[in-house]
Amino acid sequence: MRDRIYLCLAHMSGKEQDYIKEAFDTNWVVPMGPNVNAFEKDLENFVNKRVEVNPETGKLEEEITPLDKKVVCLSAGTAAVHLALIACGVKAGDEVLVQSFTFCASSHPITYLGATPVFIDSERESWNMDPDLLELAIKDRIEKTGKKPKAIIPVALYGMPYKIDRIMEIANRYEIPVIEDGAEGFGSLFNGQSLGTFGEYGVLSFNGNKMITTSGGGALICPDAEKAREILWYATQARESYPYYQHEAIGYNYRMSNICAGIGRGQMTVVDEHIAHHKHVQELYCELLKDVKGITMHGNPGPEFDSNFWLCTATIDPNLKVKGQEEAYKQVVTGAVGGAAGVTHAASTAVTDCQPNANVEALRVALDKANVEARPLWKPMHKQPVYKDAPAYTNGVSEGLFAVGLCLPAGPYVSDEDVKYIVDTIKENIL
Ligand SMILES: *Cc1c(COP(=O)(O)O)cnc(C)c1O
Repeated sequence: MRDRIYLCLAHMSGKEQDYIKEAFDTNWVVPMGPNVNAFEKDLENFVNKRVEVNPETGKLEEEITPLDKKVVCLSAGTAAVHLALIACGVKAGDEVLVQSFTFCASSHPITYLGATPVFIDSERESWNMDPDLLELAIKDRIEKTGKKPKAIIPVALYGMPYKIDRIMEIANRYEIPVIEDGAEGFGSLFNGQSLGTFGEYGVLSFNGNKMITTSGGGALICPDAEKAREILWYATQARESYPYYQHEAIGYNYRMSNICAGIGRGQMTVVDEHIAHHKHVQELYCELLKDVKGITMHGNPGPEFDSNFWLCTATIDPNLKVKGQEEAYKQVVTGAVGGAAGVTHAASTAVTDCQPNANVEALRVALDKANVEARPLWKPMHKQPVYKDAPAYTNGVSEGLFAVGLCLPAGPYVSDEDVKYIVDTIKENIL
């Protein structure tokens, strides 16, 4: 049997080990050091670049004036969300507007602070935060609570840019800071500019399955050096500059290790190749699936959007018949889908009140049997039991997409032949 094809596997350049060795040789085996500093510089150069769209070809080409954002490396993307919220002044009892269609790390840190996430549904084009619902929610929260929400968190789901032009216009009008969750969108652009650089803060993640990895890690894009220093201070236990430990605020142990940063430096030497490969895989899926009725790839909805296609996603028409769909959900799933780490709670029921359609589940199972990891879209946060009491402004879009969507493998290890094999397996299982 062929090797299993995973959604997105980490892929090393080979340089990572040189930087790690250097860290050991110079005894910088601590959560700071030359690799951390150099990785931050690499990231700044990467996100500050801007390219212009050539109006004739519609392609991104000419470099225009770069931005001057500062980047602070942290132990996780989740930590970056947490510290950005603190820097925006979020405290217990506050509300934060966050995209519902996301991974839990966008919203969990809001609850760490004793604040309340207010979930905003998506629009159909990008699948991300709906600007109209966002404005409606802002007005309604002010009316209901007498207070303005403290921050807005749009999310680049699967790498796809959100409508940041409209979101920023609304956020600026109401003077609410935007924290962009670009954890899945490293290298994605909106109008030639990196996600994470439009709002007050931008979150990056280098977890094992992201566009680039440091094994585990993240970073926060900050507006200037002063704000970056504040984040760094919070990330290193908020120490005051005395010869002894003096604390005047609560801090966190969130700094990135110099070993992890070494991996990150190695990854930065291949990031452009990785992104190009993800885009190539997306194009190939589109090409090979274009005549397959009932299956639609999710692509860039307009020329401003330039997704990194971290994961390639498809929607499956509810009327499409898939082999074995009558058997879908008959069995309780005891392990994690795709063997994801850390899922230690076995599911207690085979079904929940909000889940992908039977034909989607049947296709996932068929791909799994063919040794291909596929996965449902992220279940919207407003449908998660843990958030059942959180306010939500919904329009049915994320719930509808969750019912019909499937993530397909996209990482650097996915070859053209793999994509053909995946598409053939899909075709063989359609009735
Ligand atoms: C991965 C991810 C994060 C958090 O990153 P970690 O590095 O895993 O803590 C945040 N938001 C989204 C949308 C993510 O996918």
